[in-house]
Formats: sequence, C-alpha cells, structure tokens
Amino acid sequence: MKVNFYTSLREYSEKKEEFNKAIFDVVESGSFILGSKVTELEEAVKKYTGAKHAIGVASGSDALIIGSHILGFENGKEVITSPFTFLASTSCIAKHNAKPVFVDVDEDTFDINVNKIEEKITSNTAGIIPIHLFSQMANMDKIMEVASKHNISVLEDAAEAFGMRWKGNGTEYRHSGTIGDLGVFSFFPTKTLGAYGDAGMIITNDDNLANKAKMFRVHGASKKYHYDYIGYNSRLDSMQASILLVKLKYIDEAIKKRETVANWYREKLADCEYIKTPVVKGDQKPVYYAFNTLAEKRDELAAFLKENEIGTSIYYPIPLHLQKCFSYLGYKKGDFPVAEKLCEKVLALPIYPEIKEEEVDFVCETIKKFYRK
Ligand SMILES: *Cc1c(COP(=O)(O)O)cnc(C)c1O
Repeated sequence: MKVNFYTSLREYSEKKEEFNKAIFDVVESGSFILGSKVTELEEAVKKYTGAKHAIGVASGSDALIIGSHILGFENGKEVITSPFTFLASTSCIAKHNAKPVFVDVDEDTFDINVNKIEEKITSNTAGIIPIHLFSQMANMDKIMEVASKHNISVLEDAAEAFGMRWKGNGTEYRHSGTIGDLGVFSFFPTKTLGAYGDAGMIITNDDNLANKAKMFRVHGASKKYHYDYIGYNSRLDSMQASILLVKLKYIDEAIKKRETVANWYREKLADCEYIKTPVVKGDQKPVYYAFNTLAEKRDELAAFLKENEIGTSIYYPIPLHLQKCFSYLGYKKGDFPVAEKLCEKVLALPIYPEIKEEEVDFVCETIKKFYRK
C-alpha cells in the first residue's frame, strides 16, 4: 500500500467542479492581482478569525517580513524567538538587521518555552515571535504578560496555525494571530488552509498596522504612484484567493477530520513504547496541521517506512541556531538542548483530511514491524 505524505488530489477530485469553476471565474473576470476575490477572502478570514483586519500577501514568508518591518524589528533591535521552526520565522528578523535571540522550546509542545523568555529581555528588545507549531499554540497568556510588562510587540507566526484557538486563563477562545499585535498565515499548499501555489495573509486588530501592511504590499503606496514607504511587491493573486474561498467553506470539516486521524494515530501507537505522540498544553483548540512524533532510531525508521512506500517528513532536521546562515550569531551546539534533541527524533506521519483509516493502520503496523525487527 502506498501512502503519500500529502496529496491535494483527493480533495480536488472530490470537489473538482467547484475548484474548476473557481479558477475559470477568475480567468473570465480578467482580473488577476488583488481584486474582488482577494477582498472576499479577506472578509471571510476576518469573519472566521475575528480579526479586525486581514491583508492578503504573496506568501507566509512575505507576511513575516512585512510584519517584522512594520513592527520595527530592524537595526540592531533584538527579537526573541525559538530555534525549532522553519527558516522564515527567523530570517524575517534578520532581513532588516534586527538580531534574533533564541530561547529553547518546551519538550512536550515543541513551542517556545515561555518561562525562559523574560530572562532574555534587554533594553534593546523590540519584540517576541512565538511560533504556533504543528498542532498547538504557544502559551499566549504568558507571552502577552511578558510583552505588556516590557512594552514590546508580539508577532505571531501562525503560518501553520489556521483554525487554532487559545483560551488559556481567559474567558473565550481567540484565534491564532489575533492575540499579539500582528499575526501571519501561510496558505502554502500543504497547510491546513492551502492554496494551489504561494499565498499568505497578515491579520491584526490595529488600524495603523493594517494601513501600513496594505501600503507595504504595494510598494509602500498610499495611493497609486504615491509612495510613503519603500515597500514590497507582495500581492495575493486572485486565482489563489478564489481557490482558498472554496476550501474555507469546508475548513471546519477538514479540521475535524484531521483530529480524527490524529486520534487514530494516538490509539494505534499507544502500545508502541518507541514512539511518543504530542501532548497539548493549556486550554486551547489544537489543529493537526502535522502529526509529529518523537521516534527512537528515527532515521532508520524513516528509511524503513520509505521502503514500504510510506511518506514521512522531518520538520526540522537542524535547529536554526546551528544553520550556516545564522553562524554570525555565535551560537553553538548544546545551547538549546531540547530543540537539538527534537531535531534528532521528530518524524511527521501522513495526515490530511482525506487519508483513510486503513492507510493509517498500515502506517502504524509498519512502524511496529520496524521495532520488532
Ligand atoms: C510554512 C511556514 C512559513 C512560511 O510560509 P510560506 O507561505 O511557505 O512562505 C513560515 N513559518 C512557519 C512556521 C511555516 O510553517
């Protein structure tokens, strides 16, 4: 049995007519950049997340760069974040010469260890970038408490966190990206809400930041050919917006199916002592964008699964503090032991709404077979 790590094709074939219509509507409208489909998507995301503003941009990475820029993460300012993430969470800090300051992650959640943030704050600290990774949000109560105490900004990297909600000690569940000053989503194809190409979004409740983000995506223009800032060319294209509008209609169903799949894995792997499955902390609604396990003999297991035609992925094989591009920061091996250990053990298993239980059975049986060898 071949089990793809991810495929968009099952969803496409289930809803082929809707997707085709969404694409041809745009072709026939003759409007390809921003336009009414993008506005419609922004309105729909505002409604879904409760954010006051939503600004569609070209990718999650661009959303992070623009967000960092307008929050003033530049020129030697320090920004606290975690080294166990995708490059874009940190390169956005370095892009305008701010300085990434890493804090290790929590062993159970893989998110930033919020108890270690405050000790890294200096008079030069401009902000915190928490990353809501794989299935759950970082502890936003603690992050917002530290940020308001020290009067610094919070940029939520919610690239993987569409649909995740945090309540913590608060009174209601709030969508990822709406708690800090700014939040960003990626609509990269594999993400929970994924386009058929690159796309991203910035959300915020702050009118000024929203205004700036809108200008920054069109070269810093306040109106056509009037440039208040040196911005970017980072517009969400209409075709992607149209596709995302179809997917957004079914997002709650898709999130529920992901949860069912995650529960299958938990149950079917419960008796396998060599595999640890994720622990969700804090009062929150997780979304299983990825199902990451910690596996003994990870690399051998991944090779064995591959031989058996099962796709897996390693998010992330090298923590950012040990990447060549960040060697100038002067970190060394051993600085963030939890992140380093996770990088040696994490293995993501196939998860998407259309995966079948017999496929999950096959994955779990093959894993157990490996450890019996
Ligand atoms: C996917 C991702 C990004 C980047 O998003 P793109 O749309 O691929 O540019 C940033 N941060 C995290 C944590 C991601 O998973």
